[in-house]
Amino acid sequence: MSRAKRTLTTLVGFLTLLLVSAWTAPDRLTDFLALEKIDAHLHIRYNGAEFLDQAAADHFKAILIVVDHGDVPEQLKFIDRQKQLFPDSFRFVTSFPVDRWNEPTWEQETLKLLDDSFKKGAVGVKVWKNIGMELRDKDGRFVMIDNPRFDPVFDLIEKRGKTLTGHIGEPRDCWLPLDKMVSESNRRYYKAHPEYHMYLHPDFPTYDAQIASVEHMLEKHPKLRYVGCHVASIEWNLEKLAKFLDRFPNVAVDLAARIDDLQLLDRDAVRECFIKYQDRLLYATDIEIEEGQNPQTVCNRLHTRWTDEWKYFSTDQAVTISGTEKKVQGLALPADVLRKIYQTNAKKWYPGI
Ligand SMILES: [Zn+2]
Repeated sequence: MSRAKRTLTTLVGFLTLLLVSAWTAPDRLTDFLALEKIDAHLHIRYNGAEFLDQAAADHFKAILIVVDHGDVPEQLKFIDRQKQLFPDSFRFVTSFPVDRWNEPTWEQETLKLLDDSFKKGAVGVKVWKNIGMELRDKDGRFVMIDNPRFDPVFDLIEKRGKTLTGHIGEPRDCWLPLDKMVSESNRRYYKAHPEYHMYLHPDFPTYDAQIASVEHMLEKHPKLRYVGCHVASIEWNLEKLAKFLDRFPNVAVDLAARIDDLQLLDRDAVRECFIKYQDRLLYATDIEIEEGQNPQTVCNRLHTRWTDEWKYFSTDQAVTISGTEKKVQGLALPADVLRKIYQTNAKKWYPGI
């Protein structure tokens, strides 16, 4: 091909791309790729490179969260391996086990474990719903998140400038019978996990007790930076969420696995809330990547979730709620709000990423 012909081909290609971009503009998928985004809540028990490759293709970086499922050291090893492959594609939030809670050395062991993790670059520490729903003291009483034995741990997190990341409690659906739940995905989850379906365990702490324990913990640690996972388990009521955020200025929430709950609320009220609290919301999915899963399936799942949810936040088109056939109108958030939710808030609430 002659040089002139080649230039012409390139030019035609470029113009076609421009035209296609203009046509697909309502999707704003061009913006999707233009914006460097952060998924602030992913889990990994996997050594392969595929999923962070997919993240790079979709212009996502990740916050990988270790969670106390009884395998904290193994999860930290997976994180180390990913760090060798992708030193700059993600940061991680560490965790600590509570299975030795009733041992006198638990506090010392925990503080040491956390300091080791901070030296390796952890930007935060995750606490999970086993606190408040499983863990019991020597007398058989439930240990809640405001238990004084956690105070030195939270003091250390604050002193080191790290963030406490809390999945405490559950969606309110958890305390309702299956047929009264508002969210399909909650119904599926509690059907599969009756051990966490609190409606079946009336002797366990109530929803209000869970929220009150978080509030009491935050009152005791007013300078601690806290990211409440899953909309801090207040996904069902925007007024309550607003009150919570107003009362605790050091708190942000991630949207992980609760976007379908939010889609069930009044669309204009959600939009208003997102604009009002635009500095306090972090985009996140809570997708788990594990050994044994087909890597291509996981990558497809990530890509679909990321692009579908982008469409919900960035356009006013009809979007299908995951797991149901219901359609809802997208929020069409302004570009500067999208940038905060998808990028700058994660940097602000997890300094060091
Ligand atoms: Zn999670």
